[in-house]
Amino acid sequence: MKTQNVYAQAMDFARKGLDTILPPRCPITGESVDYQGAISASAWRYLNFITAPYCKKCGIPFSFNRQEEAENQGENGEICLRCMEKPPLYDCARACMIYDDMSRFLILGFKHGDKTYLARNFAPWMQNSGREFLSKTDAIIPVPLHRSRLRARRYNQAVILSAGLEKITGIRCYHDALIRTRATPSQGRLSTKERHKNVRKAFSVRRKYIDKLKGKNVVLMDDVYTTGATVNECTKALKTAGVKEVYVLTLARVVKDNL
Ligand SMILES: [Zn+2]
Repeated sequence: MKTQNVYAQAMDFARKGLDTILPPRCPITGESVDYQGAISASAWRYLNFITAPYCKKCGIPFSFNRQEEAENQGENGEICLRCMEKPPLYDCARACMIYDDMSRFLILGFKHGDKTYLARNFAPWMQNSGREFLSKTDAIIPVPLHRSRLRARRYNQAVILSAGLEKITGIRCYHDALIRTRATPSQGRLSTKERHKNVRKAFSVRRKYIDKLKGKNVVLMDDVYTTGATVNECTKALKTAGVKEVYVLTLARVVKDNL
């Protein structure tokens, strides 16, 4: 059965089941909403959606960057200093929201709290954030979890995000195209340098996808972009397998300079 069907059915089932047990409430404000997982209109002001101007490469909003950098780049700024100094391997990265207290709360509920029905909200947000490249995208590929972590968590949030985007765009999701070849410790408390070392050579493309992906453009999907270490390493594996362009799409993005 296609991934699309499996996850669409799971999400519909979860939503319908919960709707009959509990009246649907906004996960942020607690107000009554039309369906389980809907975000009320008044909750929108708590979410910091990313808008231009931002770095054309990594998508960091200039308003959150150092002041002089924002001034140097100006309204039509192109590339941030960090991307100029050390260009990422991916072709570009975009995120829907700033990773802050509110988006963290939403994402943790989605990731660890079984609130997979939230994906219904996230799909149109991601479609909007990916509008610059979705028309030239051939496939959506989620960042994989290692088998041991998948067993503990029961689902991979990046797969559910990918299936949601597949459903509204019709772009095929290859949910198992990337594999984690070794378990890596959680990135939680690591510095940027340690994060890069931690995920080095941790990914590869499953053999049966190599022909399908040759010369193609793909969206690499994850929930949060922190330092870019994981998505860069995934990009390396995808490009080694012959993928032409890699566009990273995440729900949220860390913007702190100290990471
Ligand atoms: Zn940048």
